[in-house]
Amino acid sequence: MIAFDIDGVVLDFASMLQKHVLIEFGVEWNKSTYYVEIPGVKDHNGFKEEIDKIVLNNVDTINAIPKAIESLELFYKYLKTPIRFFTARSNVPEIMEVTQASLERHLVDIEFDVVYVGEHKKDEYLTGYRHFVDDQQGNLLPALNKNIITCGYLIDQPWNQKVEGVHDGMIRISNLETVWNLFYNREKRFLI
Ligand SMILES: [Mg+2]
Repeated sequence: MIAFDIDGVVLDFASMLQKHVLIEFGVEWNKSTYYVEIPGVKDHNGFKEEIDKIVLNNVDTINAIPKAIESLELFYKYLKTPIRFFTARSNVPEIMEVTQASLERHLVDIEFDVVYVGEHKKDEYLTGYRHFVDDQQGNLLPALNKNIITCGYLIDQPWNQKVEGVHDGMIRISNLETVWNLFYNREKRFLI
């Protein structure tokens, strides 16, 4: 079974954030470091609050990542089960509501459900999913090292160019269409 992260895999959270931190704070979100200094914000909680506000106010403007939606449609048709997402977005009701709304806007004909891991590590939740797609090596490597997943697809993004670790099961890949092709070819081998 396969599961997916949302931001950086399906929704273009980084471009939305880049646009809005520039409009609201006049600062540049650096995609390659995945970090921005927001004036007046000192700690992680304050930072997360500001990000949550941006997410809440801009649910209608977040775009899908190229090839993501049509590829999820292929997964959905093939697996015949709701697409399962795991996200580190805040598990507060307002954020859960807007996340649901923006996914529904893009995934019109696809059933899905979302698990909010909050501040926990994703590998704690991945039992039962042998394949996982994420844009952060830090989410894939622990799950691979603990043998929770066998295949970790890393969507190539500016913020994951620095190698954090290596594992035979981690595949750097350009987009979800390539994930689908690999996944399906592998399935066919087992079916024959
Ligand atoms: Mg992500």
